[in-house]
Amino acid sequence: MRHIAIVGSGPAGYYTAEAALKQWGEDVRVDIFDTLPVPFGLIRSGVAPDHQSIKGVSRRYEATALTDNVRFVGNVMIGRDLTISELQALYDAVILATGAPNDRKLGIEGENLPNVFGSASFVGWYNGHPDFADLDPALSHDTAVIIGNGNVALDVARILAKSQAEFAGSDIVSHALTALDASKIRRIVILGRRGPHQIAMTPKELGELGHLERACPRVEAADLPDESEDATLEPGQRKSVGHLRSFAGTDQGECKPDQVRVEFDFFASPKAIIGTERAEEIEVERTRLDGDKAIGTGETYRIPAGLVVACIGYQTSKIPDVPFDERNGRFANEEGRISPGLYCVGWARRGPTGTIGTNRPDGFAIIEKVAEDIGEGTGKAGRPGFDALAAQRGINYMKFTDWQKIDEAEVANARDGSPREKFVAVEKMIAAASKP
Ligand code: NAP
Repeated sequence: MRHIAIVGSGPAGYYTAEAALKQWGEDVRVDIFDTLPVPFGLIRSGVAPDHQSIKGVSRRYEATALTDNVRFVGNVMIGRDLTISELQALYDAVILATGAPNDRKLGIEGENLPNVFGSASFVGWYNGHPDFADLDPALSHDTAVIIGNGNVALDVARILAKSQAEFAGSDIVSHALTALDASKIRRIVILGRRGPHQIAMTPKELGELGHLERACPRVEAADLPDESEDATLEPGQRKSVGHLRSFAGTDQGECKPDQVRVEFDFFASPKAIIGTERAEEIEVERTRLDGDKAIGTGETYRIPAGLVVACIGYQTSKIPDVPFDERNGRFANEEGRISPGLYCVGWARRGPTGTIGTNRPDGFAIIEKVAEDIGEGTGKAGRPGFDALAAQRGINYMKFTDWQKIDEAEVANARDGSPREKFVAVEKMIAAASKP
């Protein structure tokens, strides 16, 4: 028998469990730990609330979760409730699938002013993550500035630009829906430190911005390279740049006063956020490309910015005694191996890149390595050992059946047209799970 602990119940965690079942069938027991009482990590707290079809992938994880050989162990934090070495003493392999839940820092003056947020906290706020439910961003200013040219920047711009009607069918939490309804934001500036050919936005997501009820996306035609240069791009990127070209088209006319103007400001690198009580302006330096690199030109200008959301990527959370690669913001590893018996997978292994599906081959690859390393198993205690420790320490962990009760209550609490109203406080989740 092999005993595997997976830390993190997001896509990387569940794909790894699926791979373990495929590899060993009845000869493995997998425990999936999560700090929250609820599973699915990024699917619940990261994927945009209006992208329900992407969230639907959790049904696949549910099939894995409901097998007898895989168990969800929620509301347990490794590094707080038990140490990594205690976990390693109980399981043949410990696989960290903890994702990258922390914001990368801009490292500029004014970053800590009120109403300046990283995307982990801002997205966590509208997605109801308990750590960010009380963020209470002020949406009372005319202009919001979003930093970064990736898909998260697009998610944030879309959520800020949408009308209330466009949230029908989404599971955006009510506190965010109410705040957005009262929002005064009518101009959203998306800053890219490089140019249109260097964006990390995918065509479907960029195209979506062009079809919103009241968003008016605009690109300065002068920022676009000559159209003939698009031929050098790979097809997806070419399609994305095609959307940017349409946002620059003269046939678009001017934005109307009741629209939300979404401006792409390319070759613009943030230098400082300025304000007294809270963010008021952002200072930006014009850049030019030197090869693929952005170089500052020394020319600066300011943009009003009552709200700033930096969508510049994420870092993995450190765990005491686990070696960390500071430069890349992930665990130090060799193809997923950290040290004997300790592994990482998904964003915790490779950093925050790729789609949800990228984590599937990652999960299968790490299980191959674990199989090479642990053979028939190393005779550790596994589940019964953890249960004994949990009883001794008073760790009241949540099972998948507890999540099913929370799920049922969230679905029952949904406003009209919404799939669920999420509990945004851990105590409320636990209370829903303990109802008969
Ligand atoms: P990302 O794709 O890595 O984009 C980060 C952006 O931030 C880049 O444009 C980068 O510019 C910029 N940036 C980094 N540091 C900066 C700085 N100091 N100043 C200014 N700009 C800076 O990251 P992400 O948007 O957080 O997305 C993470 C992953 O999730 C990606 O793989 C993404 O595709 C995926 N995702 C997918 C979806 C979807 O499919 N619907 C939705 C959300 C996220 P440079 O290129 O110049 O470094």
